[in-house]
Amino acid sequence: ESKSTGKGRARVFSPDMAATFRRRTELERDMRDGLANGAFELNYQPIVDIRDGRVTAVEALLRWNHPTKGRISPNEFIPIAERSDLICDLGEWVLRRAAQDHARLPDGIAISVNVSPKQFQQPERLVATIREIIAAEQLAASRLELELTESVLVEDPEQTLETMTELRGLGVCFALDDFGTGYSSIGYLATYAFDKVKIDRTFASVVGSNAASRSVVEMVQLLAERIGFAVVAEGLEDTAQIEAIAATGITLVQGYYFSPPIPLDDLECRLAGTGTLSIACA
Ligand code: C2E
Ligand code: MG
Ligand code: MG
Ligand code: MG
Repeated sequence: ESKSTGKGRARVFSPDMAATFRRRTELERDMRDGLANGAFELNYQPIVDIRDGRVTAVEALLRWNHPTKGRISPNEFIPIAERSDLICDLGEWVLRRAAQDHARLPDGIAISVNVSPKQFQQPERLVATIREIIAAEQLAASRLELELTESVLVEDPEQTLETMTELRGLGVCFALDDFGTGYSSIGYLATYAFDKVKIDRTFASVVGSNAASRSVVEMVQLLAERIGFAVVAEGLEDTAQIEAIAATGITLVQGYYFSPPIPLDDLECRLAGTGTLSIACA
């Protein structure tokens, strides 16, 4: 971002800012076109139980292939979409596509979808959309998992609880994403009854070497056993990280170690109708 945001300094216009602003404006415009023209697709990253190698769920991750700028990271385009109503249209597209794709997965695998705080700001629309999609795509609601970040809980705790309760009535499950960054209030774990808590990727590389971080992860796992939710460790890339996580008692893992996010065709191929991943695929 801008260099001139230090304490006591005015934010002064710079050519950098103009370029940033122009790119944002262009991307927002192009996203609308992209949604209409099939430029978006979903990739899927498996969540694996390290005790038996079974894939318990897959997370849908949005991909955008821009016609002239190439692949753009969701870390860039999601925040832009969130500045307008676009995220709601995009979010609906993701939910529907994920529900359709789920039919192509072996039985017993859940599908996880990231939901933006902005979608929760329109609770009637969100609930109606999910109800309609579940019915139209014949998705077992208990196989749909919505990933929320703490920002939703911070922004409007009461409304979020109400919306979650309504959605839970439909049968869908909830995961708290990126736990350990931001507020990470333990109170949330008691109040919102998440089915799953995903420990942020920033812990993956330090659990083995940093005793304090390891204690935090162990505490979450302990709470999980007492309260009754599942824990997923995100972003595990190598054997040492897997071993360090396994030592905390966590059994569910998502990360490049098992697979990066991949297209549905590749996922189908690697699963080959079973619940386990094979190494390679033709
Ligand atoms: P997230 O929901 O926390 O998703 C996990 C991110 O970590 C993904 O990045 C995934 O590719 C990455 N990741 C997984 N394993 C590893 C690993 O071992 N190493 C490293 N370095 N990274 C790993 P991605 O796909 O770029 O998505 C970034 C974020 O964009 C997501 O974070 C999510 O917050 C947002 N996002 C993606 N798709 C959607 C969507 O459909 N809707 C909404 N609202 N947000 C989305
Ligand atoms: Mg997520
Ligand atoms: Mg995450
Ligand atoms: Mg994230």
